[in-house]
Amino acid sequence: MPAKLLDGKALASCIKEKIKEEIEAIKSKHNKALKLVSVQVGENPASEVYLKSQRKNAENLGVEYQLERLDQKISQDELIKVIDKLNNDKSVNGIILQMPLPPQINAKLISQYISPLKDVEAVHPQNMGEIVFGSAKILPCTAASCMELLNSIQDLKLYGKEAVIVGHSEIVGKPLALLLLNQFVTTTVCHIATGEKGTLPEFVKKAEILIVAVGKAGLIKGEWVKEGAIVIDVGINRVEGKIVGDVEFDKAQERASYITPVPGGVGPLTVAMLMKNLVEAFKLQV
Ligand code: NAP
Repeated sequence: MPAKLLDGKALASCIKEKIKEEIEAIKSKHNKALKLVSVQVGENPASEVYLKSQRKNAENLGVEYQLERLDQKISQDELIKVIDKLNNDKSVNGIILQMPLPPQINAKLISQYISPLKDVEAVHPQNMGEIVFGSAKILPCTAASCMELLNSIQDLKLYGKEAVIVGHSEIVGKPLALLLLNQFVTTTVCHIATGEKGTLPEFVKKAEILIVAVGKAGLIKGEWVKEGAIVIDVGINRVEGKIVGDVEFDKAQERASYITPVPGGVGPLTVAMLMKNLVEAFKLQV
């Protein structure tokens, strides 16, 4: 039997319904609409889709949305001043700093200037660090989306499962490894060195839960997927005008028990997680 699809769109709309209720409750209790500010430095066509989606989702949920477009040549000090102003503005509840940033800005350093209480993408070291202790309220959106997808599987017990994550980026693979460990999932993280050594298939074949976040179409061969595995494909690649993931979908679907489609799996959940973080951020602020 082919794997069941993990429908990110349907799950996202369920989650957004709940968030909408929370946002409305906040509005009536505190007489205030939540406000999200996105900071974009210079022009970046790739960010435009995400910005549009932020605005649309904010509007649908009754969140005030503001886009601050800054000059490509802004200095680091000037950008810090903009962030500081937003940190100190009581009407602002969430701040997003769009990546990538121009070369004169140190992205890692600048992330530390966003107030951890308004850091809705969880890029501040404090929010990242809270994941280690299992006490994080604001989670990196893509990693959190993967956990939501796993938690949406009825009767799935994560305790003791064996997971393999391919990709160890700071926004996906690393925080996800900690989130899984916090659920007592035995977690292996593969990365470029695993790929170069040629041992990636060995690890993938053992995975009861396989999560791939690399950005290379067809990296994971369908025949490597363990019978009955749960496969979450985070990758987004454009191949011959089509969006595909990192996993060979058709062959993997024949072996897996659950699999995310690309598009329509992880992607739709990330903005829902962003809005969930905004609500959590507000709770921390009050
Ligand atoms: P990233 O920062 O480029 O990280 C990619 C990771 O893959 C790195 O850890 C890299 O290792 C590893 N890697 C590269 N080649 C490999 C190989 N042959 N074997 C094993 N590991 C390998 O990317 P990212 O930001 O995490 O994003 C990953 C993918 O997910 C991209 O396609 C991105 O578009 C997509 N994405 C989707 C969503 C969504 O909403 N669906 C959100 C975020 C990202 P090294 O660092 O050691 O080189």
